[in-house]
Amino acid sequence: MRDLGPARQLGRVADAARACRGAESPAGSSTVWRLEISYFQFPGELLMRMLKMLILPLVVSRFLSPAKILTRTPSLISGLASLDAKTSSRLGILTVAYYLWTTFVAVIVGIIMVSIIHPGGAAQKEETEQSGKPIMSSADALLDLIRNMFPANLVEAAFKQHFALDLTPPPEVIYKSEPGTSDGMNVLGIVMFSATMGIMLGRMGESGAPLVSFCQCLNECVMKIVAVAVWYFPFGIVFLIAGKILEMDDPTVVGKKLGFYAVTVVCGLVVHGLVILPLLYFFITKKNPIVFIRGVLQALLIALATSSSSATLPITFKCLLENNHIDRRVARFVLPVGATINMDGTALYEAVAAIFIAQVNNYELDFGQIVTISITATAASIGAAGIPQAGLVTMVIVLTSVGLPTDDITLIIAVDWALDRFRTMINVLGDALAAGIMAHICRKDFAQDTDTEKLPPCET
Ligand code: ASP
Repeated sequence: MRDLGPARQLGRVADAARACRGAESPAGSSTVWRLEISYFQFPGELLMRMLKMLILPLVVSRFLSPAKILTRTPSLISGLASLDAKTSSRLGILTVAYYLWTTFVAVIVGIIMVSIIHPGGAAQKEETEQSGKPIMSSADALLDLIRNMFPANLVEAAFKQHFALDLTPPPEVIYKSEPGTSDGMNVLGIVMFSATMGIMLGRMGESGAPLVSFCQCLNECVMKIVAVAVWYFPFGIVFLIAGKILEMDDPTVVGKKLGFYAVTVVCGLVVHGLVILPLLYFFITKKNPIVFIRGVLQALLIALATSSSSATLPITFKCLLENNHIDRRVARFVLPVGATINMDGTALYEAVAAIFIAQVNNYELDFGQIVTISITATAASIGAAGIPQAGLVTMVIVLTSVGLPTDDITLIIAVDWALDRFRTMINVLGDALAAGIMAHICRKDFAQDTDTEKLPPCET
């Protein structure tokens, strides 16, 4: 019998292994076994179908969110009425730029950690080379990435990506999505188009208002459907995990890899949340970040307990005001915008999880795909709501963007409830430190009017 190696005991590669074994086993007993497993996995299969069905409406409606933020900005800034328009827009631009930048840094930290620790096991190089896969240069990969950002046909982008070379490998070696399935969707192109349209709509002001409210309505509706899918999660997940375990030759191998994966995510979160962000705070404000973090400890514990940065928002606000003495007007603007677009922990986790899934499938990612993962993980974290396990739903977007098997989300689900708590803490910490930094940068403007008590209480 062929030695399939430990990395093959997961995902689709496991299917191929079973098929091989089936050919050698007595009269199709393996086929019957697989059929039984597929019946058993059926409730889980429905969950995955639901998630895939949601990709397109989720991406389109969530990434039209710049329109929502831009149109909400005047109302968020209305609390800053005592300040001139220049200061208000300065705060807005600085906050959004800071959020995007730190989220991208979080993704890079995640990519570095997962490349160093390699939780999915070592790549089986010789087999990949033997597969006759055409070699794609970094330049080709980069050009494909840029081409995919500008889809020639939006309808086609909903089910097909552009590839300069036909890289379709033998299925037992590398997974690649087939055109025509939802896995082949050009996520990057759709995100780019939706975000551009969102920004333009936001800038159109009154004339764009009907479409903006249509998009908001669509977004709310999709989020309600996501909430229903999240209710179905535990049920579908139990069957998915059980089915996966039945498929595996040696579940302990998976357990070990999952352990390493969890350690990778936690290490990345620690490096980003307790080293990079505090250092940034220190260099910009020249204040002690430990004192600041101690001030928001209560909010961090609530985030750990609830796995929801939205639910933690009122406590974060209270901690910033009472313990860290952040200007109420800055907190009122920076925190809600952060809750909408800033999720460093989620972005880091999405990048690590996608690369982990590639590793266990022995799928070597090229440079263009790593860049695609970093962009889509940033975008997916912006698209995630501040509720428990929302990152798991938007994870489908990242996997789809590079053609990784979305079904393999099953692998990481088992540890996600715990990782979700830690990444939510980093999401909350990122928003809080941003408020501290923005309050410091804009301190002179805000010092002109310190009568903050006249302002209405924070809407959360
Ligand atoms: N639970 C996270 C939050 O509320 C989102 C996620 O990553 O699932 O911030």
